[in-house]
Amino acid sequence: MASPDGLPPLRAVIAAHGLEPKKSLGQNFLLDLNLTGRIARQALPLDRATVIEVGPGPGGLTRALLAEGAERVVAIEKDPRCIAALEEIAGHYPGRLEIVAADALTVDLAALAGGGPVKIVANLPYNVGTQLLLSWLAPPVWPPAWESLTLMFQKEVAERIVAAPGSGHYGRLGVLAGWRTRARILFEVSPAAFTPPPKVTSAIVQLFPNPAPQPAPLAALERVTAAAFGQRRKMLRQSLKSLGGEQLLTRVGIAPQRRAETLSIEEFVRLANAV
Ligand code: SAM
Repeated sequence: MASPDGLPPLRAVIAAHGLEPKKSLGQNFLLDLNLTGRIARQALPLDRATVIEVGPGPGGLTRALLAEGAERVVAIEKDPRCIAALEEIAGHYPGRLEIVAADALTVDLAALAGGGPVKIVANLPYNVGTQLLLSWLAPPVWPPAWESLTLMFQKEVAERIVAAPGSGHYGRLGVLAGWRTRARILFEVSPAAFTPPPKVTSAIVQLFPNPAPQPAPLAALERVTAAAFGQRRKMLRQSLKSLGGEQLLTRVGIAPQRRAETLSIEEFVRLANAV
């Protein structure tokens, strides 16, 4: 029996194209179109931007994005086995789905979007999810090419992205995301929703660019957070020793006895501007 969008059920697609999930590609598929519809709706409206989806796999989220009104979806998939299945979706929605058979770590997103507004929506492969997010948070020019990110991560990573100072999850990812974006967790997704089920709970995170983050050199901010959180239990005068230690901290008005996880983003920015 066909699904509401008129295409075959995802289980049939997987069987027809031999898409046995591969762990090496982080393949945990979503087969419930109600759930992929719920994820796609978080990024509405979808018709005024190019929607970039990383890792469409058999196309459950891709189909939801198109059914929810996306006029142009660019789907970047590394696994060549998935391309024929995705072409069937493209045929069902003529002119609205572009399939890019490539590694998302090496593609130029801005070029794919052709200069217009972009929304990125993805059930990310967990093995490269953090790396992809860091690349989207760290373009040399800000605001970035994208206007929103709606992404599935392991819950533990999601908590690190949205973490505030003082939380045990607060670290380099939280400082970078908190500096350049407004990020929040929208909802959790249980392992049972995936085929095969991963070991841990997942969560959908949404990020919007902060239009005017406090100015700071990105490379310096990365150096400071790497040093501070690299030894997160130590006092900053010790963990930041190679960057100027006590002298640097005193110069920017931060008590040298404090620990990394107590520093606000504004204090990290002050340090980045001073090193
Ligand atoms: N979107 C599908 C879904 O929700 O059912 C599949 C999600 S699955 C977690 C991750 C997908 O990313 C897989 O299809 C995998 O082949 C693809 N993938 C893994 N590494 C990739 C990379 N570096 N670039 C592009 N796609 C990648």
